[in-house]
Amino acid sequence: MKIPPEDLRKYKLIPVVSSVAAELGIRLYLVGGPVRDMLLGKETLDYDFVVIGDLRSMAFSVAERLGVGRNDVTFSKFLTASVRYRGISIDFAHARVEEYPSPAALPVVRPCYSIEEDLGRRDFTINAMAVDLSKEGFGTLIDIFGGLEDLKDGVIRVLHAGSFRDDPTRGFRAVRYAKRFGFRYSDETLSEFDNARNYMGLVSFVRVKNELVRSSVEERRVEMFIDFSRFRLIYGMQAPEHAIRRLDVLLDGRDRSHWLPFYLLFVANSADKTEVLRDQMTRKEKNAIMSLLLALELPMNAELSEIHGVLRNAPEETLLALAALRGGNCELYLRRRPLAVTALKGDDLIKLGVPRGQAIQRMLKLIEVERLNGRIKTLQDEIQFVKSQLSRNDEPTSNS
Ligand code: ATP
Repeated sequence: MKIPPEDLRKYKLIPVVSSVAAELGIRLYLVGGPVRDMLLGKETLDYDFVVIGDLRSMAFSVAERLGVGRNDVTFSKFLTASVRYRGISIDFAHARVEEYPSPAALPVVRPCYSIEEDLGRRDFTINAMAVDLSKEGFGTLIDIFGGLEDLKDGVIRVLHAGSFRDDPTRGFRAVRYAKRFGFRYSDETLSEFDNARNYMGLVSFVRVKNELVRSSVEERRVEMFIDFSRFRLIYGMQAPEHAIRRLDVLLDGRDRSHWLPFYLLFVANSADKTEVLRDQMTRKEKNAIMSLLLALELPMNAELSEIHGVLRNAPEETLLALAALRGGNCELYLRRRPLAVTALKGDDLIKLGVPRGQAIQRMLKLIEVERLNGRIKTLQDEIQFVKSQLSRNDEPTSNS
């Protein structure tokens, strides 16, 4: 099958890149996402090319033709090159095969000299199609795995058994494409999810996080996280569906890069709480997890002051997750914590007569709780409150 030239013309850079390839005697193909999206009639800004020939010359010559400096050309050791041009990235890879030395390990990559071999290393049939952009076969669709048919039928199909054992993160990718396009999983894909779950423990947290980041920006992320739970892709953990849905509502209006509160919903539900901290987590991520675990020890009907006692310094992500899981006062706390900032600072309290030392912190916390409960709103209220506390006791006692 040939792709109609008008479809290819929508990709304004294709004529430039293909004429450079022709001059250099390099075989050139458009592959993966852009081919899939073009066949679905969707716009995409991605340019993913595979070349067979000199990758360096290709990238530098395209940059030169577009008037882009050499600084905007980058190479990786995985046989790829990238040219930055007007805010988009034009990606080139040499055709390659990948071998997985052990389950879930990063692949060993070596160049190959046929596009068919290169397509064989990919995740799903709908992503394993290429369009020939070389002079001789310009516009020819290369589809050896039945990707076009699966695209028409709306099916996410792995290329071979054991695909998710080689790379368990493909489980996340399967869910993402299924939900993004409203497709179903083929039986082969469904049976691969066991592999994804069983081998995910070997995948680094950073790689899993990357999948969660990519998913949380998607429009249908709720359905995605529900399936991550259904297939227990996040290190075997599950999250309650109502909490996933609620969290999405709580996040409404915020930027869509929030993956951590979703992750926390899974942690909250994890049977083995000793396993939830992982290598490569940032301090903030660990902090969010530990404060959530502490907060989960609170009774369901905890007062704002009790919640504040545990979550006073916790990242907002923890508050979001707890609110989604428990509602009630936890949700109220999410909304009110920004109010719990005192106008008076330590020095001011000393001037008002609060003794130095522990008493300062205690008084600040008391003011915060008064603010949370709406009993104090202004600096004047705070001063009044401190004076009344001092006249009652020598030292403030806890009071909610
Ligand atoms: P998206 O629209 O989500 O960006 P994409 O198809 O462009 O989708 P990329 O992650 O940019 O996805 O990957 C580009 C191509 O590389 C994919 O279409 C697929 O063919 C291949 N690919 C990416 N990740 C994997 C993987 N983990 N296993 C096998 N093939 C992969």
